[in-house]
Amino acid sequence: MQLFALDEKRKLVPAGYASRQCDYHCLECGGIVRVRAGGHRRLHFYHLQSAIDCSLHQKSMEHLQVQSYLFAILPSEDCALEQPFAAVKRIADVVWFSRRLIYEVQCSPITALEVQARNEDYQKCGYQVVWILHERTFNQRRLSAAEKFLLDSPHYFTNIDKEGKGIIYDYFALVEANRRIQRLASCAVHLNQPGIYPTLPLAIPFREVAKRAQNWKLYFAGDLFDLFYKKESYPHLELYFAEIYRIEQQSLAKALPRAKPVNKFYALLNRWLIQPYLLLLQIFLEKYCR
Ligand SMILES: [Zn+2]
Repeated sequence: MQLFALDEKRKLVPAGYASRQCDYHCLECGGIVRVRAGGHRRLHFYHLQSAIDCSLHQKSMEHLQVQSYLFAILPSEDCALEQPFAAVKRIADVVWFSRRLIYEVQCSPITALEVQARNEDYQKCGYQVVWILHERTFNQRRLSAAEKFLLDSPHYFTNIDKEGKGIIYDYFALVEANRRIQRLASCAVHLNQPGIYPTLPLAIPFREVAKRAQNWKLYFAGDLFDLFYKKESYPHLELYFAEIYRIEQQSLAKALPRAKPVNKFYALLNRWLIQPYLLLLQIFLEKYCR
C-alpha cells in the first residue's frame, strides 16, 4: 500500500486525487496500482498484482497512518511523503527538507544491516534518519538486532493503529544482555519540534540520558533528553528521574564484582606464619642495614 503513485504522464498523484478503476504506476517497481478505501481505512493505492520485492507493496495500513500523522504535524510546504532519492535508489517515508530530516517508519521486521545501509545512504544525501518502530513488531522484552543497532541513533516507538489512533512515544528502559529488564511509563514525543544537544559539557547523572547526548544527533520535545532538561520545572518529572537514578544505580551495584569470600585456612596461615615472618624480616633488615 502507498499514498502516492504516478499517472500515465508520470505525474505524481496523491491517493486523495486519484480516480477509482483507473490504473496508476508504483513509484518503486512500476507495477499497476489502483486506489481504494474502506471502513476507517485511509485512501491508498494497492498493487493489482503481488510485488514481493517492492517495499511500497509491503507497507501496512498502520505504516500509512504513521506517515500521514507525521505529514499532518510537520510544515506541509516543507515536507514530502514517499520522496524518491535517485542517487541512492531509495524512497523515503517522510522528508522534512529544511531540517534535513528523514522519518523512516518500520512496522515489519528489518535486519540491522538494512537499518545501517539506509542510515548511511541518506547520510550521503545530507539527511539524518529518525526511526519510528511500530510496537506490533518492536519494543518487546527482547531487543531485535535492528533495535540493538539503533540504541546509538535517534529512534522512537509508535502504537498508531489502522484507524490512525495512537501516539509516537519514548520511555526509559533498563537494557541488560539484550533484554529490557525494567521500563517506566511512556511519554509522547513531538517529532515536529527537534532540538540540538547543547555543546557545553553537561553533568548528566543518568547513564541512558548521557549516552544519548553523546551519540544521538538530535532530540525532540517530549523525549527522554527533553524531559531531563525540563525536570526541575515539573515535580512528576523529578520523580520519574529519581526512579531512573534508582534503577540505574541498582544495576551498577549488581554489576560490581563481589568481594571474594575469605579462605579460613589462608587467614590462619597469614596470622600465625606470614605476618610474624614479615615482622622478623623487617627487624632483621633494620638491624643489618644501618
Ligand atoms: Zn511497487
